[in-house]
Amino acid sequence: MNKQTLEYDREHIWHPYTSTTNPLPVYQVEKAERCTIHLTTGERLIDGMSSWWAAVHGYNHPVLNKAAEDQLQKMSHVMFGGFTHQPAVDLAKRLIDITPNSLQKVFYSDSGSVAVEVAMKMAMQYWSSKEMPEKQKFATIRNGYHGDTWHAMSVCDPETGMHHIFNGSLPIHYFAEQPKCRFEDEFNSVDIESLASIIENHHHDLAAVILEPIVQGAGGMWFYSPAYLKQVRDLCNQYNVLLIADEIATGFGRTGELFACNYANISPNIMCLGKAITGGYMSFAATLATNDVADTISNGSPGVFMHGPTFMGNPLACAVANASIELLLQSDWQVKVKHIEAQLIQGLAKCKALNMVNDVRCLGAIGVVELKESVDMAVIQKAFVEKGVWVRPFGKLVYLMPPFIISDAELETLCTALYEVVSENMEV
Ligand SMILES: *Cc1c(COP(=O)(O)O)cnc(C)c1O
Repeated sequence: MNKQTLEYDREHIWHPYTSTTNPLPVYQVEKAERCTIHLTTGERLIDGMSSWWAAVHGYNHPVLNKAAEDQLQKMSHVMFGGFTHQPAVDLAKRLIDITPNSLQKVFYSDSGSVAVEVAMKMAMQYWSSKEMPEKQKFATIRNGYHGDTWHAMSVCDPETGMHHIFNGSLPIHYFAEQPKCRFEDEFNSVDIESLASIIENHHHDLAAVILEPIVQGAGGMWFYSPAYLKQVRDLCNQYNVLLIADEIATGFGRTGELFACNYANISPNIMCLGKAITGGYMSFAATLATNDVADTISNGSPGVFMHGPTFMGNPLACAVANASIELLLQSDWQVKVKHIEAQLIQGLAKCKALNMVNDVRCLGAIGVVELKESVDMAVIQKAFVEKGVWVRPFGKLVYLMPPFIISDAELETLCTALYEVVSENMEV
């Protein structure tokens, strides 16, 4: 059965960023609970990925299961045009309550990339409503990642952002140098010069700066100084440019703050949320905006915000999101994330001594080992599975971002496996 399933999969199904003629191996999952993924072969893997930032409470959580089951008895979906429902209103209240104060309006969508598209459309409609339609471009920082759809792609790093073959037909935006100051370093003002000069020279055609606050995710797993983010906020204010914070990866505690913007004590004009919003249960996202952004769009022409996905405000996703956020806020998540950070720092420290390792960095519940060469995914993935852990590197980056409920012993197993797999499988 397992073999037939895998063969069919191999023949007919695309996986993320893969070839159909030379597919990477995949493993068949039977079920998952807490931090353990059970394969159909009987193997058990400790999860080091939270299914890409999302499963912060682990898998198969009784509270989240119950929230989904209860909502299923009422309705799993109903259109959002002309209707509202309690789960959508409860979630909006929660999101407005926990995000920076000035964010007062919520737009629901079904994935992170769409939340980014929505944010960019809001920024463009904002300036068009202000009768400054020339403000249509975006500035961002190199090594960023904002999603796979068309305009989200246009602000991903042109080289590391995985989309370079589309460059010819994507809109051209402004790319500033990546800040070099690490999260814990003292800020060096040289870092802001590149973005500052873009804003100074191009503010008349800039709609917004879009960035991942503090932690750049899939574009490079880099943690930069909160002082940089603070200066970006000041520059945007000074030159009348909106700031879009893409907190799709960083939101809901992953970095050690509930939102990474909190490290710099700033409030963006627009914020994108996704990934962990439902605790990894289903695809859902939200774009939050200030009253100024929403009212300006609404008072302009055509007087409405031009977006409305079919599955907008999906009640099942809203109900699980409510339960997940409540679960998070009721837990001692901040202590737990700090504890994971301390254990990652300690557990990955010995990787620094390896010849094939370029850098080791940790922030919150994220631990990154940057290698000198790119990994051979098929080889390294197999090696991790053989050690009983689920770690999925990309390029030169091997990293851990476990569910917040991970135990000390499980996290130690992950750190040890990472060290062993890197030292045993990478050329010196
Ligand atoms: C994952 C991610 C996205 C895209 O979200 P999807 O749900 O995959 O469409 C956008 N921005 C950031 C920062 C992300 O990490």
